[in-house]
Amino acid sequence: MATNSELKPCPFCGDTDVQPQACGMNGVQVYSVRCLSCGARGPAEYHDECIEAWNRRTSDSEAHHEE
Ligand SMILES: [Zn+2]
Repeated sequence: MATNSELKPCPFCGDTDVQPQACGMNGVQVYSVRCLSCGARGPAEYHDECIEAWNRRTSDSEAHHEE
């Protein structure tokens, strides 16, 4: 189980209050890292991969923002 310490800060607001959240997709349990401060969300992946994906997105600044 990964911890928040592995997550990079949000690329939009710089807040470190980010955490993986479960979200169902096509009946499959996947996770998406979400910024609790501004609502930015990383790509939905299986658990550990969502963290890696978030960290990649923060460096690439490709994460999308949802209002
Ligand atoms: Zn944010």
